[in-house]
Amino acid sequence: MDELNEHHGDTADALISAARFFHERGWMPATAGNLSARLDDDRMLITESGQHKGQLGPDGLMLVDLEGNVLSPDKQPSAETFLHIILYRRWPRIGAVMHTHSVNATVLSRLAQGSQIHLRDYEILTALPEVTSHDAEVIVPIFGNEQDIPQLAARVDEHMTQHPELLGYLIEGHGFYTWGEDVAQARHHVEAFEFLFECELNMRRLTP
Ligand SMILES: [Zn+2]
Repeated sequence: MDELNEHHGDTADALISAARFFHERGWMPATAGNLSARLDDDRMLITESGQHKGQLGPDGLMLVDLEGNVLSPDKQPSAETFLHIILYRRWPRIGAVMHTHSVNATVLSRLAQGSQIHLRDYEILTALPEVTSHDAEVIVPIFGNEQDIPQLAARVDEHMTQHPELLGYLIEGHGFYTWGEDVAQARHHVEAFEFLFECELNMRRLTP
């Protein structure tokens, strides 16, 4: 924790601020979801398992290396830590990973079971990297929920090999994962996608 406070205070503060904001918006109820940030080539800072996201403080964060080894004594990592690790290992450009459990993402992932969401004709798409026009299409795949996290991580990893443009994915009846170059960009992506999920849900509700 000393190392965390001395050298990574700004990163910790950014994660805590994002967690509180997402909790206020109802995207991380109670202990649900997890957030992380890369510290260097080998290590990340991630929310500890069981931490309430509306009351998160520096003690609710822990250091884990990209092999999955816990570097913060007496801290319990989330079962989903490995889903963060595969992203950092895959692309050095990824600096932060965010996993939310919003109502909109959860309901949409169940309505569109076993398929994917096609997002197009939304101006806010231009808030996403490499999207320069509202008529571009962003595809969000939906993976079946799985308690076997290494299994789920392997499926996501394989999908990313085929689709290097991927910006985020849903897990059925569970939640959403997205990432960015740093905490600020990943946070923007959560906001943009949550807006899009709410639009999609309303479109489906209002269009017979
Ligand atoms: Zn989750």
